[in-house]
Amino acid sequence: METSCLFCRIVAGEIPATVVHRTGTTVAFRDIDPKAPSHVLVVPVAHHADVTELAGDPAVAADVLATAAKVAELEGLTGGFRVIFNTGAHGGQEVFHVHAHVVGGAPLGPMLARP
Ligand code: 5GP
Ligand code: ZN
Repeated sequence: METSCLFCRIVAGEIPATVVHRTGTTVAFRDIDPKAPSHVLVVPVAHHADVTELAGDPAVAADVLATAAKVAELEGLTGGFRVIFNTGAHGGQEVFHVHAHVVGGAPLGPMLARP
C-alpha cells in the first residue's frame, strides 16, 4: 500500500467509498462524481500506477477485467457499457492507481468528444 495514494486508502478502508463488489485482488466502488447513471471504478488491491504497469501483472489484469464484467452484471447493464482506462496526461488520468471506469445505464453517445 502507498499511504499517499487515494485509491490505496479506499482499498484499505481509510477513506469511505460505496463498495459494490470485492474479490481477493480487486475492489469496485462508485465514482464520487458519476458521468453516467451507473459509474463504478474497479481497482486492483495492489498498487499499480496505470494500465501499462498493470499489464506487467497479467493475472491481476485479468481479475480487474473479470470484476468489470461482474460489475456490469450486478448493475444490470444489459444494454451495454464501456470500460475505460484513462492513462497519462493525454488520457486525462487524475488518480495514479490504475482503475477501470465501468459506465453505462443509458446510451453513452460518441466514443470521444472531438478536440
Ligand atoms: P481518472 O481521471 O484518473 O481516470 O479518474 C479518476 C476518477 O476518480 C474520477 O472519475 C473521479 O470522479 C473519481 N474520484 C476522485 N476522487 C474520488 C474519491 O475520493 N472517491 C471516489 N469514489 N471517486 C473519486
Ligand atoms: Zn494506490
